[in-house]
Amino acid sequence: MNHTSYVGRFAPTPSGFLHFGSLVAALASWLDARAAGGRWLLRMEDIDPPREAPGAQAAILQTLESYGLVWDGEVTYQSQRHDAYAEVVQRLFSMGLAYACTCSRKQLEGYNGIYPGLCRNAGHAQHDAAIRLRVPELIYRFEDRVQGPFEQHLGREVGDFVIRRRDGLYAYQLAVVLDDAWQGVTDIVRGADLLDNTPRQLYLQELLGLSQPRYLHVPLITQPDGHKLGKSYRSAPLPPEQATPLILRALRALGQVTDPAMVQARPEEVLAHAARQWTSSAIARCHTLPEAQLH
Ligand code: GLU
Ligand code: ZN
Repeated sequence: MNHTSYVGRFAPTPSGFLHFGSLVAALASWLDARAAGGRWLLRMEDIDPPREAPGAQAAILQTLESYGLVWDGEVTYQSQRHDAYAEVVQRLFSMGLAYACTCSRKQLEGYNGIYPGLCRNAGHAQHDAAIRLRVPELIYRFEDRVQGPFEQHLGREVGDFVIRRRDGLYAYQLAVVLDDAWQGVTDIVRGADLLDNTPRQLYLQELLGLSQPRYLHVPLITQPDGHKLGKSYRSAPLPPEQATPLILRALRALGQVTDPAMVQARPEEVLAHAARQWTSSAIARCHTLPEAQLH
């Protein structure tokens, strides 16, 4: 790997505070970038104002700072990128690669979330409609640095997917692909809940002639009942005074060897040490990790 060309990023959605699972993902991404001598960018994925939690943006930045997860350059905001998203949606639409869909939620019941293509050839106008991208009847595959080979048949397993919602908001799939390319991101390190979103993103990259980043998906920390760490875990910011012990715990969740003496150290020291020792191959090759199993 050309170390100097590494660009990583953390891209939180401000729908809540960072929780322990987000810390694990942020830490993995930060360490992978620092160990490679690369840059680490921070992008606020604030494209869905109705789902945004008041104060979450500021709290996320504060948590990252108090945990020593320093980013490079200015924070970027997806809320300021609407023109770029709109331009691409119009391009895809005028090329016939995307189309307007007026299906109601009710009409789409019973298809297991796989869009059955009802509006594919309807020729609807864009007004008051979602815009969907046509997917090919093809398998998209990639080699994840931790999870290994992953593949998905876009037609059968996903269906034509939304790139602009009916309410005019842009979809995560579109925004993430455009912004990663715009920011020159070479390495995406994130939670394994997004593993099955990746083939859609590969298809968009291919369609738009963008280069494909490397991917590393870290296990998602789950509650004892197997659910993703959710609302209740997001009800308060991660305590700043717990930075060192929680970073050490997150390092163990990532399979990294930790030194017990480090509990006395400042977060910055723990991170610098962890970056020197960083072994991405020690991360467990699993999609979820129950929080109860961590120590
Ligand atoms: N904003 C997404 C999230 O918080 C992450 C996007 C990504 O890393 O690709 O789940
Ligand atoms: Zn439709």
